[in-house]
Amino acid sequence: MIKPQKNVSLKAYNTLGIDVQAAFFMLINNLQDLHDARDFCRLQGCPWLLIGGGSNLVLTQDFVGLVMLMAMSKLDWTSHTDGLEVCAESGCEWDALVAESVTRGASGLENLSLIPGQVGAAPIQNIGAYGVEVKQSLRWVDVFDFNTGSCFKLTAKACEFGYRDSIFKRQPHWIVMRVNLQLGHRVAGNKPAQLSYGIIAHTIESMTGQPPEAATGQQIRDAVIHIRQSKLPDPKQLPNVGSFFKNPIVSAHQTAKIEQQWPELVAYKLEEGGFKLAAGWLIDQLGWKGYSQDGVGVHQLQALVLVATGAAVTGGEVLALAQRIQADVLARFDVVLDIEPRLFDSRGEFWLS
Ligand code: FAD
Ligand code: NAP
Repeated sequence: MIKPQKNVSLKAYNTLGIDVQAAFFMLINNLQDLHDARDFCRLQGCPWLLIGGGSNLVLTQDFVGLVMLMAMSKLDWTSHTDGLEVCAESGCEWDALVAESVTRGASGLENLSLIPGQVGAAPIQNIGAYGVEVKQSLRWVDVFDFNTGSCFKLTAKACEFGYRDSIFKRQPHWIVMRVNLQLGHRVAGNKPAQLSYGIIAHTIESMTGQPPEAATGQQIRDAVIHIRQSKLPDPKQLPNVGSFFKNPIVSAHQTAKIEQQWPELVAYKLEEGGFKLAAGWLIDQLGWKGYSQDGVGVHQLQALVLVATGAAVTGGEVLALAQRIQADVLARFDVVLDIEPRLFDSRGEFWLS
């Protein structure tokens, strides 16, 4: 029987730097560790929580059960005539995988450069940036069911990917152990670069002096890194969990109604109908950008990012600010903002109504 560490601070394991404790804590290095952890929780009758890079969660209380830190990190690359396949264990760092894919001449992940966190968390919210989502490269994942102790493979289709969404949000007892991605060979012209976000093409042009369509994978990656570093706070300098709210999807009718009062509204028409509103723009219009009080605030350059400016911020304080912003946006635009990071109290996940 394993002996997890007791009363471990989770401050170093979440990018908001919230200092709560785990009653029990262990690293997951292999499948056997998952079985042992499961046996431990069943014997103790305690809840469990798996953490990757801790860049998409808010911890609001000491956790009474077992916190597991994913540390399985083997990588396996295979070259095919039509591209490169990578099988990565969940504990690999996402951006290191992207960097290596670019070095190996593979295409498909460049726009997802510099997203913090682990490979295993990428399918959970179907990470996305600059018009690319991980679902476009993912072929299958290996899953460990913490309820039954069984392992199984899930195809991309079975993952039910959506906008910042997947089946894993509805099956929280499924742990992703391994992710398989199929990437293209940039030289062969497979998977052409995704340049639909104007800022990417513009930045490539100004950094290289070349037309964006001719950019190498490394040049696209460099442009994405440049843009992100110029406007997003580095969690190591200014603790945060990235976008705190999802971009709301609303009807054409509601979009037109808002535009009557706010003609500059930033809205993107969706193929499947309706419009995606830029949540950051809505929040910015209400004057929240740069707001800071009692150790929590709204980032000066991106209103979608809440930041912990104080040393001893609690998850509750961050959520209190989030709720004020949600109420303001609802009152002024009649738009509901959903929180993107996952919220945890002493026994597990909870949702704000
Ligand atoms: P964690 O925060 O550790 O976990 C998040 C959730 O996933 C938790 O519920 C956890 O239990 C669960 N989980 C983690 N690993 C597994 C696993 N192996 N199996 C099952 N469940 C698991 N996100 C984007 O989509 N696009 C962006 O461009 C982006 N930019 C960001 C920029 C910054 C500065 C920051 C701080 C965050 C950003 N994010 C972005 C959010 C975040 O980085 C991603 O969601 C990332 O995938 C989270 O990975 P993680 O390992 O930190 O997950
Ligand atoms: P931005 O470029 O200021 O754009 C604001 C919003 O407009 C984004 O949310 C984006 O939606 C949308 N948008 C912009 N151009 C678009 C286009 N051509 N077509 C459709 N939608 C468009 O956003 P940002 O905050 O700097 O982020 C840049 C990218 O990184 C975005 O894709 C964003 O999702 C991603 N990002 C995500 C997180 C996170 O934690 N989830 C954190 C930082 C950055 P989308 O968000 O749907 O792309």
